[in-house]
Amino acid sequence: MAKTATATKTIRQRLVYRLGISEWFASTQDLFNRIVSFYFDVIQAHLGVLEMSNQRALTALERLTHATKRYPNPPVPLSEVATHIPAMFRRAAINTALGSARSFHSNLASWRREKQKAETKGRRFSKRPPVPPRNWNRSVSFYAGMWKQRSNGRITLKLWDGQTWRWVRFRLSGRELPTLWEAGSPQVMRRGKSWWLHTPVEKQIPRPNKVETQIKRNPDVRLCAVDLNINDALAVCTILEADGTVVATRFIRGGRELHGRRKSLLGRVARNRGKTGVIAKDEQDNGDLWAKIRHLDENTAPRVSRRIVEFAQQHGATVIVFEHLGRFRPKRGQYSRRANEKRAYWLRGRIFHYARYKAWEEGIVTCRVSPWGTSRECANCGSPVARYDEGNPATEYQPGAPLVKCLNPKCGRRGNADRNASRNIGQRLLARHLEFVYPIHQEKPLARPPGRSSKEEGVSLPQDAENGIGLQSDWNSLPEPERHGERDGHGTARIEVDGAASTRSGLKSSASIPRPLRPQQSGGHAAITLSDAYPGVPEEAAAL
Ligand SMILES: [Zn+2]
Repeated sequence: MAKTATATKTIRQRLVYRLGISEWFASTQDLFNRIVSFYFDVIQAHLGVLEMSNQRALTALERLTHATKRYPNPPVPLSEVATHIPAMFRRAAINTALGSARSFHSNLASWRREKQKAETKGRRFSKRPPVPPRNWNRSVSFYAGMWKQRSNGRITLKLWDGQTWRWVRFRLSGRELPTLWEAGSPQVMRRGKSWWLHTPVEKQIPRPNKVETQIKRNPDVRLCAVDLNINDALAVCTILEADGTVVATRFIRGGRELHGRRKSLLGRVARNRGKTGVIAKDEQDNGDLWAKIRHLDENTAPRVSRRIVEFAQQHGATVIVFEHLGRFRPKRGQYSRRANEKRAYWLRGRIFHYARYKAWEEGIVTCRVSPWGTSRECANCGSPVARYDEGNPATEYQPGAPLVKCLNPKCGRRGNADRNASRNIGQRLLARHLEFVYPIHQEKPLARPPGRSSKEEGVSLPQDAENGIGLQSDWNSLPEPERHGERDGHGTARIEVDGAASTRSGLKSSASIPRPLRPQQSGGHAAITLSDAYPGVPEEAAAL
């Protein structure tokens, strides 16, 4: 019996309404926050409720605040703050306050632990304690009873117009709720000038096996190794088998165009700023420019991540592996250039974030490996590589250059730098769980894990349809001069050198990477668990 896991996502739809209604959203939200703030204070005065389950805490808080026939005189009546509050509105506010109080007190507790630890060691402790929220600006959750008649892109919501409660019918623009997913309570959020309905949905999916189990137990496992870049190839994906055989590679491009458009918008922001005196119109201009810039990035991340996951699916990969993303190290220079790079780095994180969610929905597990040296090592033998521009000698490591050449004379392979990096990322994951042998040391034909027998014939050079490139079981098998262009998927595509390697330029030289790669149970980066950053999607399925 397969175990199941839950996949969740949020469907965002814009509420379509006539002018004037937006004030009702605002007054509903104000009222909601008044009640949340009230309950937060009640909890602060009755900290015992934080020891209870949410359900019991809710009951306790209602008893303290809400008059019923049985308890007509609650000690801290809500009615002194607001009257005629629908029960489900009140409960949504209580749960919001509970969530905030739990998070505040857990932060406070860890601050106290830190303080105590410092004091017992006799160290000075100057970190400030967390403070409870002063201003409340939480979005309203509409529990059942606060909304009705949801279908065909419409919903009816109960809103507070400042005087009274009203049922208002809305049209929703944007994609419909997906079928087969179960919808939770929608929230009404303000985004810029308009109001949106965000609905969390979830569905049960068969739980995929842990990465380790898949790699150790399934000789037919396939990985999709992804190198995220800030150059034209935003993502370079390589499908690897358990023995390191490369099945296919895809370059997901568009970075150059994106960077160009973003840079010109940023340049306009900079010029507006540079003008003497602050003119209100410029402020507005900049607001619009920033909105355009955000729009560019926010459209790109889901698109690229979808293509990564689709590519993995096409080739039957059940694990997607990324490297931990380096920090942005700004270089001196023009404002627009720095700001552009910063956003490009940020975009990589977004792509990873979306890819994890999308992959998880499809039963694909994601994980990450240490980025040390993934660009600086030859994927074929593990030796340091030279990185260079076409037409230049392949002698030094020039960060961001599009091509690599292995400096080991016994190997000497050449190829695309990003493809080499993505392959290293995949191999690093294999090395973590299996005894990995670099292709150069493998006996021909490639040794396959036991249990793999008859499927060889199935591996007959599948065509990578979208790129029009054939199987690249060997990234260097093409004659050298054509290699670059052909391999990129678009014959004429040139890789813009855009400081891509600055992430890695500060990293340890490849010489310090142990070879052959040893299992890396806890690399320097393993401490950053993604589960903290993105609650809801475990780094691996098994964490559920
Ligand atoms: Zn080599």
